[in-house]
Amino acid sequence: MTRLLILGGTTEASLLARAVAEAGIKAVFSYAGRTEQPTAQPLPTRIGGFGGAEGLAAYIRGEGVTHLVDATHPFAAQMSRNAIKACSLTDTSICAFERPPWVAGEGDVWHPVADMSAAADALPEAPARVFLAIGKLHIAEFVHKPQHSYLLRLVDPPEGPLPLPDAKAVIARGPFTEAGDLALLQRHRITHIVAKNAGGAGAEAKLKAARTLGIPVILIDRPQLPARTVFGTVADVLEWLCKKGNIAHPAGEDQYTADHPTRLGE
Ligand code: NAP
Repeated sequence: MTRLLILGGTTEASLLARAVAEAGIKAVFSYAGRTEQPTAQPLPTRIGGFGGAEGLAAYIRGEGVTHLVDATHPFAAQMSRNAIKACSLTDTSICAFERPPWVAGEGDVWHPVADMSAAADALPEAPARVFLAIGKLHIAEFVHKPQHSYLLRLVDPPEGPLPLPDAKAVIARGPFTEAGDLALLQRHRITHIVAKNAGGAGAEAKLKAARTLGIPVILIDRPQLPARTVFGTVADVLEWLCKKGNIAHPAGEDQYTADHPTRLGE
């Protein structure tokens, strides 16, 4: 019998959870537990790490998981690597559900960099006003550029003082709008943006606003992962699941698309 584990934390994962629940497929949804109030899911939900690839393999065996969909954020590379390894250890079917990366268009002033530390290095030496749209985990990588004024956008208020001498946090959860981000960039007189190439619609607003204002964006490339099966729509994931799990395809799959605004896209 099919028992699916969805690794979540993205809009894509929530879309998939809805479709899977409506199709009556037995499944568990997993959150890392990074945000205080994660989006409620229409599936049984567990929260917290598994304890590395071995821990996840033990969970898969213990819960009788037959299929795993990695719908984590494209920058959650550790979890994705663990999932590939755990599925190989347990001979479990695995695929990823992922949004495509953003591609520069006319008027974009993007500086692609390989990782967070390269992003910090790419900031100018002269004091600048930087929108650090990278979430909360890697802020400390910017400590060696203390001359800048930083604006952060976080889902939850910071638990302690920020590690940067001149930093402000706005607390907001996406999806964001172009008009809203345009106003934000103007209000804070932002001169540079640092962002991850997350993809998705809701987090793209800042890039569109940057294009309008001619603000340069230091855009961090996605981490490299081992080769794996990747789908871009709920319909494709369901089809894979039904083929692999030998279950009837639920009707009405066309209504689900990955083209929805991103809620946790930064
Ligand atoms: P990560 O560095 O790849 O993962 C670190 C550890 O967190 C993993 O080894 C695992 O712990 C645990 N973990 C991650 N995702 C999990 C999940 N869905 N269920 C259970 N445990 C999970 O991940 P991250 O970048 O910290 O991201 C954490 C979560 O936030 C992910 O679910 C991701 O989808 C979401 N998110 C991340 C970003 C981002 O930019 N990185 C942005 C938006 C949302 P164990 O080793 O103990 O199993």
